[in-house]
Amino acid sequence: MAPPPNIHERTYIMAKPDGVDRGLIGEIITRFEKRGFKLIAAKLALPTKQHLEDHYGDLKDKPFFPGLITYMQSGPVFCMVFEGLDAVKTGRAMLGATNPLTSQPGTIRGDYALAVGRNICHGSDSVENAEKEIKLWFPEGTLQYQLSQASMIYE
Ligand code: GDP
Ligand code: MG
Repeated sequence: MAPPPNIHERTYIMAKPDGVDRGLIGEIITRFEKRGFKLIAAKLALPTKQHLEDHYGDLKDKPFFPGLITYMQSGPVFCMVFEGLDAVKTGRAMLGATNPLTSQPGTIRGDYALAVGRNICHGSDSVENAEKEIKLWFPEGTLQYQLSQASMIYE
């Protein structure tokens, strides 16, 4: 049986170096805010190679892995955690397909990117991985607070 909908589900979203360089941090935040998600952590970071290898550990045998790490170290990233109903799956839908050429228009990648190796944003792919990624990128933890509009977002 599927678990009940969780309005406190958390997902890790990150503007990659190309997203930061192209001035898309605000756009990404705006889309998640307008959808109804609550920002509960955010910061700029210059991750080490080891940190990125941990983040992308499941891809270490892929031929594009070295290039991916170089790309991810080419400038600052902007790290975010959003909370809300079905945040992981909905967050992935808002990002669009991994390869921007197949991302639907209206998604972040489908509106702002062309190349799979420059796809401007990251989003967790499962609740379990989201929790791992939040621990990795925000060992200091996330914030708890109420949105005054919560009753206008949720029944
Ligand atoms: P995501 O979860 O949609 O980000 O996709 P993956 O977890 O499969 O891959 C992580 C990241 O690696 C992607 O967002 C791309 O930046 C990069 N990547 C994935 N597949 C390819 C590929 O075939 N070629 C290149 N150059 N990069 C890739
Ligand atoms: Mg992934």
